[in-house]
Amino acid sequence: MDTQPLAAMPEEKLTLVERRHEYGDVYTYFFEPEHPIPYEAGQYGHVRLFDMPPDVKAVREISFASASHEKYIWLGIDSRSHSPYQQKLLLLKPGDQIGLFKVKRHMQWPPEKSDVVMIAGGVGITPIRSFLRDRAHKQLPMTVSVVHVGSGSFLYGDEISTLATHYQATGRNELPGTLASIAKEHPRAAYYVSGSPGFVETVIEALRQSGISHIESDVFKGLAEEAVS
Ligand SMILES: Cc1cc2nc3c(=O)[nH]c(=O)nc-3n(C[C@H](O)[C@H](O)[C@H](O)COP(=O)(O)OP(=O)(O)OC[C@H]3O[C@@H](n4cnc5c(N)ncnc54)[C@H](O)[C@@H]3O)c2cc1C
Repeated sequence: MDTQPLAAMPEEKLTLVERRHEYGDVYTYFFEPEHPIPYEAGQYGHVRLFDMPPDVKAVREISFASASHEKYIWLGIDSRSHSPYQQKLLLLKPGDQIGLFKVKRHMQWPPEKSDVVMIAGGVGITPIRSFLRDRAHKQLPMTVSVVHVGSGSFLYGDEISTLATHYQATGRNELPGTLASIAKEHPRAAYYVSGSPGFVETVIEALRQSGISHIESDVFKGLAEEAVS
């Protein structure tokens, strides 16, 4: 469900403070907003790059990796496509601005259940960091088990291992076994799944086959499947 006031907000300008290289083609961008943006954990916004050629799409949907109490807005972005959008993003320098509009959500938060399982593929961990930061800040009473699927590098892995009740970083080949055992251990939990379309589809299908019905998901349309191989 959309969050109407934010979905209708005028375009806000964010100023780049710092870009941090995480691994490979993955970077975290730290932005300072001109005005406070009352976004909620797990939401995403439409991010516009300025001065793009007219024939190039200048907007992408990007999840907040930060929670709203944090000083900067964090965007964790996989630039592996090297599309014109990603090339332009990589050229941004501290002090440069981007636009942010239409803030929405796909995953409801907080959950009504106190046992929560979050499963992310690659950069799909961004809304999960946001949830976990919010949970710590508000001291929300729930246990959270995080399964992060990647190919050797795990975005925010050290931080998430301290924020989550249980944290497991694993490879795609181990995914079927991992999902079967987590579903057995947490049959009535609220599940959150985020990542590329293929990843989310695979995980949801496996969870449903294991009898899990309460699943929230965020499909990162456009994100290359290789991001979680
Ligand atoms: C809700 C949401 C949250 C996201 N959060 C993140 C995030 O936190 N970090 C991150 O790195 N990426 C995120 N993405 C993915 C991001 O929006 C881009 O789709 C992705 O980076 C690909 O764009 P590109 O410029 O790299 O590649 P491109 O080469 O421009 O795109 C790759 C292919 O995907 C198609 N495509 C791009 N966007 C869409 C779309 N919205 N719907 C359908 N097809 C599309 C293009 O037409 C092209 O064929 C998110 C996507 C969604 C929908």
